[in-house]
Amino acid sequence: MTAAVMPTYGRIDIAFERGEGAYMYDTEGGKYLDFATGLAVLCLGHSHPHLVAEIQRQAATLMHTSNLYNIPGQERLAERLVANSFADTVFFCNSGAEANECAIKLARRYHHANGNPERYRVITFDDCFHGRTLATIAATGNEKVLDGFGPKVEGFDHVAVGDFEALQAAIGPQTAAIMIEPIQAEGGVMVVEDAVMQKLRQVCDDNGLLLIVDEVQTGMGRTGRLLAHEWSGVTPDVATLGKGIGGGFPIGACMATAEAAKGMVAGTHGSTYGGNPLAAAAGNAVLDVILADGFIENVERMGALLRSRLEDVCRRNDSVIHEEVRGRGLLLGIQCRVPNMDLVTAMRKHGVLVPPAGDNVMRMLPPLNIVESHIDEAIEALEDVCRELGQ
Ligand SMILES: *Cc1c(COP(=O)(O)O)cnc(C)c1O
Repeated sequence: MTAAVMPTYGRIDIAFERGEGAYMYDTEGGKYLDFATGLAVLCLGHSHPHLVAEIQRQAATLMHTSNLYNIPGQERLAERLVANSFADTVFFCNSGAEANECAIKLARRYHHANGNPERYRVITFDDCFHGRTLATIAATGNEKVLDGFGPKVEGFDHVAVGDFEALQAAIGPQTAAIMIEPIQAEGGVMVVEDAVMQKLRQVCDDNGLLLIVDEVQTGMGRTGRLLAHEWSGVTPDVATLGKGIGGGFPIGACMATAEAAKGMVAGTHGSTYGGNPLAAAAGNAVLDVILADGFIENVERMGALLRSRLEDVCRRNDSVIHEEVRGRGLLLGIQCRVPNMDLVTAMRKHGVLVPPAGDNVMRMLPPLNIVESHIDEAIEALEDVCRELGQ
C-alpha cells in the first residue's frame, strides 16, 4: 500500500479488478463470492446491466448541473422515495454520514422554527454507528471514533437500547430528537425489537421529540422491507439513507415528513453534488429493480433461507460460533467464539467475502438478488471453515 494514500484503513492485501453479479475477481485470478457487497452498498451485485446502462446513458448526456437549477431526475427519485415511504420530502447528499448530518441539522432547525432554539440535543444509543464526520462521531459516541478528535461536538446523549428509565432521565428541556438504527449493524447486527421501536415513538410523541431512524445500512430492501423500521409498524419523522441507494454510486438521502422538515427552507442546507443528474440516474435505476414485483419478497425469502441454513451450521459448530443468528432479511450476523477476524479470514481463503462487525460478529451482506445456489456456496464454505477452526 503506497504512503501516497493516507493510512487510515487497516486494509486486506487484495485488489479486485472486476465484478459480475455476486462474484468479484482479484488481480491474481482469484474468484470470490461477495457476501460483503462493499458494506451493503452493492444491493444489485456487481455490474448490474440496468444500473450500468443508466449510468452510462446519463454520463454521456448530462453529468452535473449543481442545485442552482431544477434536476428532473432528482425530483423523480424523491417522488418515488416519498411514494414508497412515510416521508413527504427528501434532501440528497453523497454519503450516509452526510445524510445523518442533515437529519441532525433538520432536528435543530425544526425546534428553531417552533420557537424553541434551545432544543438541540439528540439522544443516541450505546453501540450505535452514525458516521465519521465531527457531528456523527459525537453521535456515535465511542472512544474508538472520537479519540484525538476533540473537542467533541456538543449535543449528544447516550443511553442503552431498551433502557427506558435511562432514556427518560436523559430527556431534558434541551432535547430535540432520538436517533436510532433499526438494526445496529456495525455494532454487531443487533436488532432493535419492534416493541422498543414502538415505545421510542411513544416517548418522542410524549416529549415533542423527532424520531430519526438511521437506515443507511438497513434501508433499500436489505431487511426484506424497503425500510427496516416498517417491521415495527412505527412511523418515524426522519429516515436517512446511504449505501444501497446508489447500488455502488455514492448517494445519501435524508427523508422527512413535511412537518419535521418545516425549518429546512431555501438557503438553510446544501450540497454541490447532492442528487446531481448522474447520481439521480443511478438511484432511479436501483429503484427500478428494487421496486419491481417480487424483488423485496425475494430478499425476505432468501433471508429466511440463509438464516435457517446458518442456524443449522451454528447448532453443529458451537465450539466456533454461538447458536443465535442475528439480523433480518439479508443483514445477518453470527457471533463467534473464536476471534471474528479468524472466521472472516478463513472464509476469504475459501472464496467467500464477509465483513466483521462489533461484538465479535461475522456479518453476511449478500447482494439482494442472490439465488439459492449462492447460499449453498456460502454455507459450504462456512461448514469447512468451522470444521478447520473447531479442531
Ligand atoms: C455506513 C453507515 C453510516 C456512514 O455512512 P458513510 O457513507 O460511510 O458516511 C452511517 N450510519 C450507518 C448505520 C451506517 O451503517
